[in-house]
Amino acid sequence: MNTPKYSIIPKPQRYDSVDASFTVTSETRVLCVPEFVGAGKYLTDYLKTKPNASKDSIKFNKDSSVVKEGYTLKIDDRGVVITASDSAGAFYGAVTLKIMLMQSKKDNGVATLLGADIYDYPRFSHRGGMIDDCRHFFGTEIIKQTLDNMALLKLNKFHWHLSDDQGYRIESEVYPLLNSIGSKRKFKHLQGKDLPLSKICRHESEESGYCHYYTKDEIRDIVAYAEKLHIDVIPEIELPGHTSSLIASYPELVCGGKGCEVETKNGIFKNVLCPGKESTYTFVENLLSEVVELFPYEYFHIGGDEAQLGHKVWANDCPDCKKAIEENGVKTPAELQSVFMNRISDFLKSKGKTCICWNDGLTDLADESLICHYWILRNPLWVKKESKKRKFILSPSTYFYFDMSYSYMPLKKTYNFNEAKFGITDDSKVLGLEFETWSEWITDKSTLEFSIYPRIFAFAEVAWTKEKYKNYKDFYKRLEFFKLYMKSKRINYSRLEKKKFGVKNVTCYHLGINGNEYKYNENLKN
Ligand SMILES: [Zn+2]
Repeated sequence: MNTPKYSIIPKPQRYDSVDASFTVTSETRVLCVPEFVGAGKYLTDYLKTKPNASKDSIKFNKDSSVVKEGYTLKIDDRGVVITASDSAGAFYGAVTLKIMLMQSKKDNGVATLLGADIYDYPRFSHRGGMIDDCRHFFGTEIIKQTLDNMALLKLNKFHWHLSDDQGYRIESEVYPLLNSIGSKRKFKHLQGKDLPLSKICRHESEESGYCHYYTKDEIRDIVAYAEKLHIDVIPEIELPGHTSSLIASYPELVCGGKGCEVETKNGIFKNVLCPGKESTYTFVENLLSEVVELFPYEYFHIGGDEAQLGHKVWANDCPDCKKAIEENGVKTPAELQSVFMNRISDFLKSKGKTCICWNDGLTDLADESLICHYWILRNPLWVKKESKKRKFILSPSTYFYFDMSYSYMPLKKTYNFNEAKFGITDDSKVLGLEFETWSEWITDKSTLEFSIYPRIFAFAEVAWTKEKYKNYKDFYKRLEFFKLYMKSKRINYSRLEKKKFGVKNVTCYHLGINGNEYKYNENLKN
């Protein structure tokens, strides 16, 4: 009777079917209050309605009683009404309607929408996804396609990893060597321990180097594109570790000033910035001043992870860092890192930013305004203690690192994420969730898509839909429509195929490019 007729991901908090139908044609007019024009345009771009369409039937109304980012969507014989209190909510109403229209029966340009009564709003305010453009570079077109699909799933934060050991990817006028040196490395493919040398450079041209960065205009273009999709872009500049590309360009930034090359390997390196020198702060502040100009949103990611090899240099080999440890009255180099991060965070606060830091970069001295980006597993007691002080973004590598193989991290595992497993019992401490796509082994559009899809659908439902409404079997059925969508977009998604062995055992295979096959026994009965 009330069973939903459409497959919507992420699942709305409440969706009842109504015994009614309504037809949409190119003559259907979309009417909006001025604040919701963006949502209306998103819809008319899809419907390709005539500019002088005459039938009034899809309306966007404002009602301040609807929760933030939430919407109601009602379809009956008279038409469609979407109601929201803010432009994001109106946009998500338009997204849901678009998904319904995509699934509606069409005849000679007339789509028949089936009656519905939906009330929907997100569980978390931060629903993000990260792409690492440093280990491999993807470019404007691929980023925009990813943003389109993030918007279709009501994800609203794009975390853009733009600075790492293997390349600096933003045009810099203040420090131009970051491009002429820091954006280049010798090889495209990063040398891994288990990869034979012959497979590293598949093409001769790659031996001549790999040089990429986004111009400021390209970045502004992407930020503006994302804004229309209600996605904030959050840049990440890794500090003080993962900075070989910065140090290769400006060797004076490292303890001892000896410098290094832009890394051509994966891993953790001892080339980290020297926090004992005042000139390091000057450099970082000038650089960040240039970068913040490009990104108009509140959050800024300052990295902070995997600086441990540098810590050894700070404590043992660098007179400047030894002096800084003494003068700041700290006991360990990890605490000196907190002094460094706090100072950078204070600087960015003066620019109106709130900083995000990976969890292994935090000590007890870390400023409470720093948001903990939780990725590497810690004792739940540590998480409980820290979550009393600061907000968390959760990206545990065992659930949301999309570069992991499907055999290690199958779709169902991502779907079954629950923050209580990590010691967080109070949702109000969680700003939100984020998937991460590190690109050491992801080299192009095809491998990127294989890693992200279909996991992004599971992730979106975890981030949007309340825990009590989640159900993997039901999700998996709804995914059928989105497989057709991905096929129509020629997305190289990982195919999950069932093969039956005996009566009870169902083994699923993730099949992808080049015949790669990833076996995993997903018990679909749960
Ligand atoms: Zn030093």
